[in-house]
Amino acid sequence: MSTIEKVNCLIIGSGPAGYTAAIYAARAGLKPLLYTGMQPGGQLTITTEVENYPGYPKGVQGPEMMEDFKAQAERFGTDIRFGYVSKVDFTGPVHKVWVDETTEIHANTVIISTGASAKWLGLESEQKFNGFGVSACAVCDGFFFKGKDVAIVGAGDTAAEEATYLAKLCTKVYMIVRRSEMRASKAMQERVLNTPNIEILWDSETKEIVGDDKGVNGAIITNHKTGADRKIDVHGFFVAIGHTPNTQIFKNWITMDDQGYIQAIPGTSKTNIKGVFAVGDAQDKVYRQAVTAAGSGCMGALDAERYLAEMGIH
Ligand code: NDP
Repeated sequence: MSTIEKVNCLIIGSGPAGYTAAIYAARAGLKPLLYTGMQPGGQLTITTEVENYPGYPKGVQGPEMMEDFKAQAERFGTDIRFGYVSKVDFTGPVHKVWVDETTEIHANTVIISTGASAKWLGLESEQKFNGFGVSACAVCDGFFFKGKDVAIVGAGDTAAEEATYLAKLCTKVYMIVRRSEMRASKAMQERVLNTPNIEILWDSETKEIVGDDKGVNGAIITNHKTGADRKIDVHGFFVAIGHTPNTQIFKNWITMDDQGYIQAIPGTSKTNIKGVFAVGDAQDKVYRQAVTAAGSGCMGALDAERYLAEMGIH
């Protein structure tokens, strides 16, 4: 038998978007309940140094920053609980959400901030060096490889954009493309092809990432047309083969694009369901930064507050 609990504002997810929504909702008196999901703190808890979040002039470790976000949300009374939302029913004006199969929440407003997860190649060495030279975010970690050689895997818009970003900082960028063409838009491809310090390794796959106790120092790349292996000497290894938004459970309810990103009404956090809002990476495949996620979390809380006021719910 599950217990039923009624709340004004339920926040699902505990990255920068979820915690920022919680800070605003709690200060507005909505008494938010936040479920963290299986990875409390979200993607930032698996990064190391964060140098581009405003307000931390000396930088901060990702996990520590998320503890700060959490403490700030708690300070204003957010009820933060560890738990995984497994099912929702958005039929009525009251939104039903099930947590860990044991708790049923009836919420007047729901803020979805479930984020996205980076896709990885699946190599053991990639896991081993994650945070020690291997990264899924060039904008976050490219700076640490200033003046060094790096590699990036992928051939979509993200990989193309990140390769040109890295090329400004690094001496040389190897772009590892598994086919003989790129998926990225023509304009982005041209930018890559016109950047002299990007070398594209076509028809290529990563066999292994190599390194020592100081981190990554190379990668073995196989050209699957010729079968030849080649070692490239790189200190940074970026994986940009796409992300998966964590939106599966909302599929039959919320309007999404073909990749599962929630389609919020432009300029707002509103979804197709009244009283349900989407913020952070679950609805953003382009910017994906902690600061943009936090900004959209704020929008979610303000939209929820206005919705409750319009509905006359206190
Ligand atoms: P995409 O899914 O578009 O591209 C993923 C790329 O990674 C593809 O080139 C794919 O190769 C490659 N890939 C996938 N798996 C592997 C693997 N195991 N090994 C090697 N390569 C692999 O993801 P993006 O993140 O690039 O983009 C997501 C969406 O966001 C797109 O719609 C994109 O247009 C959009 N976007 C827009 C931007 C903008 O407008 N400025 C910026 C960034 C993203 P293959 O081509 O062979 O399948």
